[in-house]
Amino acid sequence: MWPRSLGSYLRAMPQQPLAQVPSDVRWYWQDLGSCRETDPLLFFHPQNERGSARAKRDRAAKLICAGCPVRLECADYAVRAREPYGVWGGLSEDEREVIYARLDSRHYPRAQGEGIRAAAQEIADAVSPRVLGIA
Ligand code: SF4
Repeated sequence: MWPRSLGSYLRAMPQQPLAQVPSDVRWYWQDLGSCRETDPLLFFHPQNERGSARAKRDRAAKLICAGCPVRLECADYAVRAREPYGVWGGLSEDEREVIYARLDSRHYPRAQGEGIRAAAQEIADAVSPRVLGIA
């Protein structure tokens, strides 16, 4: 995701421990993301947001991701980095937690493209019409 400004992004996004960011990461796709002009708060839940409020915000973010030309690059990065917060590539925090729990931490996907391969079905399902409630 790419916010309106770096400042608003940093305020909205909890800091990711640097060790989680893959060494081969490239950021070109962030300039092409459909969220570039969107309020980053749509993609990151405020403290204590739960239940239907979170589901509604996540769904709104996912609808933007669904039409994003770099969704796979974004999802790949999020899985490889074990991003803990926010909607990335259409995947919610809860959806990524399921992926993280399934993957072997000793052979965690870290190289470019491995995140997509390791979670192909989840990434495909994340913005399916059924999940978005438009089926
Ligand atoms: S997939 Fe979603 S979060 Fe990622 S760049 Fe695109 S719109 Fe932003």
